[in-house]
Amino acid sequence: MRTSELVEAAEVFVGGRFVPAIDGTRADVIEAATEQVMGRVVLGGPADIDAAVTAARAGTRAWSAVPPATRAALLDRYAAALDARAEETARDVSRQNGMPITWSRVVNGHLPGTLVRYYADLIRGEVPVDVRPGLRGVRTRVEHRAVGVVAAITPWNYPQALAAMKIAPALAAGCTVVLKPSPETSLDAYTFAQAALDAGLPPGVVNIVPGGREVGSHLVAHPGVDKVAFTGSSAAGKQIGETCGRLLRPVTLELGGKSAAILTEDVDLPTYLKKILRVSLPNTGQTCHSSTRILAPRSRYREIVDAVTDTVRSFRVGDPLDERTQIGPVVTAAHRARILNYIEAGRASGARITTGGSTPTTKDRGWYVEPTVFADVDNSMTVAREEIFGPVLCIIPYADEDEAVAIANDSEYGLAGTIWTPDEERGIALAQRIESGTVGVNHYGLDPAAPFGGMKSSGIGRELGPEGLNAYLVTQSIYLPAPRGARSNTVGGDRT
Ligand code: NAD
Repeated sequence: MRTSELVEAAEVFVGGRFVPAIDGTRADVIEAATEQVMGRVVLGGPADIDAAVTAARAGTRAWSAVPPATRAALLDRYAAALDARAEETARDVSRQNGMPITWSRVVNGHLPGTLVRYYADLIRGEVPVDVRPGLRGVRTRVEHRAVGVVAAITPWNYPQALAAMKIAPALAAGCTVVLKPSPETSLDAYTFAQAALDAGLPPGVVNIVPGGREVGSHLVAHPGVDKVAFTGSSAAGKQIGETCGRLLRPVTLELGGKSAAILTEDVDLPTYLKKILRVSLPNTGQTCHSSTRILAPRSRYREIVDAVTDTVRSFRVGDPLDERTQIGPVVTAAHRARILNYIEAGRASGARITTGGSTPTTKDRGWYVEPTVFADVDNSMTVAREEIFGPVLCIIPYADEDEAVAIANDSEYGLAGTIWTPDEERGIALAQRIESGTVGVNHYGLDPAAPFGGMKSSGIGRELGPEGLNAYLVTQSIYLPAPRGARSNTVGGDRT
């Protein structure tokens, strides 16, 4: 059931309090399935970012000095507070961006708490002091300390998961965060604020200022920020990377993708088809790691085209809050227009639509696009090269394994990909030839304990896993002389 009550987020969250925005504007939040106003949010301005960065700076020394075991206990409480709000959060996201609720529960409802607990566990154990014997009798004590104030900027497609992939390791490392969520999905972002209050996190540890790209740019370049963690388009990522390069500011960039699913000539097709929704069309295709280019061996091309077409045609398109829905609406009217333009471009370039290709005639409201399959696609076509970010698949024929690998790698992106083969060893060998940060063999799914990120235009750096924690730490080497009484041959008492 959806309620007709408007969800109001009239304030920004700065220094542990909800406060009126200093130079904000109010914006309506439109529900993707109904095109109705479902809430109102305040979008902050530069002065709000300044206030949030000041609060984060004020909080960073105390937070980083909290002993890791105490920090971990507080993070456990934070995870529990996020869990307690999981259902409400999942629904808020689905209403804003159209994500089918069953998937939203997993990635928006439960993943944030899971990630916070995972990083709490990573810092809980006693870490022995790392004193390394030097080559010349001396010693170095290697310290890992919090990088400081983190600017976290997130897109609308997985707003909770992507924010948690930054907030959880940053807080565990002892950093404080200013989160700037996307205007399309700002309402759910306040879960991180309310849970921070419930858990008793100190003021300034988590700060939230929704806003558009100008506000995002202001945050990225802010002198009080020590590190930027960004997820979004490659175009925005390149601009942010330039700014961070100029400022020599550490940055993690998780960007776009155009990944390939390679089906080998002996593929067990039902194995792929059973997972195609989660692997190639998750969140109605609005997912950076979707395997949207399906590479099919010529020997089985027609069979694969028919089977993929039948499966995609069978998907239930509907209200994202309906448990049975597999494909929801896309996030906005503008995004739907963009996807439909890509479909027209595919048609015009000679690709063959085998199902879909328009908006569903059964829906008079909501930003729906029919799940669409293009066959006879050449990898040089726009639909095979650019990230469509909607429910559109391209099936590309290949002659042999080398050609399949060449097509998969012939992309400016390198985020993900999948291999479908009965022979796991062959799958791993093929995966090792793919130029992307992650590859799945007969499966694809982010694992909180394993690093995730891109190559080429898909980004720089890694999130998740212990690598995701390292991204929020800086190392310092403290050089110490040889222990008393030991023979030293350092410069000064040099024997070399
Ligand atoms: P977007 O780049 O337009 O916006 C993302 C966020 O960045 C928003 O909060 C936006 O306000 C902000 N922003 C935009 N330009 C900015 C700038 N110059 N400086 C600072 N902030 C700026 O992306 P989107 O349309 O919201 O999201 C879709 C994109 O995100 C797709 O390309 C998708 O592949 C990518 N994505 C990548 C991953 C990943 O982990 N690699 C995950 C999800 C989405």
